[in-house]
Order: sequence, then C-alpha cells, then structure tokens
Amino acid sequence: KDFRNDVKPNWCPGCGDFSVQAAIQRAAANVGLEPENLAVVSGIGCSGRISGYINSYGFHGIHGRALPIAQGVKMANRDLTVIASGGDGDGFAIGMGHTIHAIRRNVDITYIVMDNQIYGLTKGQTSPRSATGFKTKSTPMGSIEQPISPMEMALTAGATFVAQSFSTDLKDLTALIEAGINHKGFSLINVFSPCVTYNKVNTYDWFKENLTKLADVEGYDSSNREQAMQTLMKHSGLVTGLIYQNTERPSYQELLTGYSDKPLVDADLKLDQAHFDKLVAEFM
Ligand code: SF4
Repeated sequence: KDFRNDVKPNWCPGCGDFSVQAAIQRAAANVGLEPENLAVVSGIGCSGRISGYINSYGFHGIHGRALPIAQGVKMANRDLTVIASGGDGDGFAIGMGHTIHAIRRNVDITYIVMDNQIYGLTKGQTSPRSATGFKTKSTPMGSIEQPISPMEMALTAGATFVAQSFSTDLKDLTALIEAGINHKGFSLINVFSPCVTYNKVNTYDWFKENLTKLADVEGYDSSNREQAMQTLMKHSGLVTGLIYQNTERPSYQELLTGYSDKPLVDADLKLDQAHFDKLVAEFM
C-alpha cells in the first residue's frame, strides 16, 4: 500500500526527519496496514509536521500533547494502529508527564521521537536532550543542565518496548517500527534525527562515530531489563537497536476487557442532528 501523499515536506534538505517519514511509510506497508487503518498523531516542532506527510488519518496536535490525543484515538477505536510522533523537546520537556504515564499505562500505541537534541522550529535553542556545555542562543555560555536519558527513564517507568535508532539506518529503523506496531502495548522508539541547520555538534558524522549497535554487543539479551539498563549506562545511552521488550505484560486495552467491551466507535450513541447541534451550542 502507498502511504505517500502529495504534500511536499518543508524540512531543510538533509534533515533526519525525512528518513523517519520513509521508515513509517515502509513499516506500515510491510505489516499489511491499509491507510484507513493507521492514525498518525503529532505534536509541535519540525517533526510535528509528519502527520501531514503520510497518507493515513492525521492529527497535528498541540505542543507536548501528541500522546493524550493518540491515547484517546486508540481508546475510541481499538482497531486503529496509532502512531504518535514528535521531537525531543515535545516529548521530553513539555510532554514528559504524558510520556511517563503513557509508558506506565502500556497503552497499545507506538511513540516515535525524532531526537535532534535541539529546538529546530524555533531556530535553535537548548533542548532537554542537549549535552551539558552545549552552546545555543538560549545558552550562549553553554548549558549548565544535565540532559535527560529517555531510554533509562522509559525502563524505570515500566516500559515494555524500548528501542533506539539512527535516521540513516533506514532498514533497521523500519524493522523497529514494524516491531513496535506489532508489540501489544506501548512502544517507544527514539530516533537520532540530526538537525543539519542548527545543531552543528550532533551531526551525522558525530552519531556515526559515537553510536554502538546492540547487534554488535556480545550476548546482549533484549528481554533482560537489568542488562538493558547497564548497557545504556555503559554507553551513555548511545546505542541503537531493540533495547528491551517485555511480551508478558498485558496492554491497557487487554486489561480493559470486562470493564468496557465497546469502544466509542462501536457505541450506539443515538446522536441525531438535534443532539449534535445542542452539544455544539453548549461549547459556543
Ligand atoms: Fe530539520 Fe533542523 Fe531544519 Fe527543523 S530546522 S527541518 S529539525 S534540519
């Protein structure tokens, strides 16, 4: 199936987000979805535009709120495959509370973060992923803060699927998104997606030099949470591949069985035009 549409992305040439878009489109096709089976919900930021660049249902939300919207979409229609997406500022600063709670709920959606370690849309300020000492317009003498470690945070919050990739590794990234979609529960995929315009430190070359593939770590077992945490700490979080997966824990949707068998999309709301007009009038 073709998940491309006619909208031309207005990302800067060379932006890592192009590969993330291609990987989502390929993964959706590879798992056998139809465009009408997929909803892509995004937050605000350069990466937030992605929901308009994929031939599927799309919802461009507000800053840091992709996950509440995505969870609502999934709760209302459990048959949809739901992908939430956004940048590191969106998901790990203003949206961090939602990220942690979506992780611990284990709602059956996939969250793809395009992590460029800077705020690109607002022209280059320090993000929660920027390294200590990182100089931008907002930190001209260098950031005095510690960057957040999202993968360790996710493991601590009880994540059942944690993965990381690099936007140039299109094949690996596509496979991870497929695995995330197929995972029964919340899947977090953090993608190093360089901002070629504003981040002159964490470049493609920098990532190539500093990333370690978990496939090359001898004896790595992605079902071992303790080993996952130790490996992340050893490599300062700079690893790619499937970091951790727990297939035992039921998803939020599975736990709901017996409480609410009828999602909103199947409910007989008896909502005729008069009721609808009345509801709208109450909000005016
Ligand atoms: Fe990509 Fe950076 Fe350009 Fe935004 S400013 S589109 S993140 S390269």
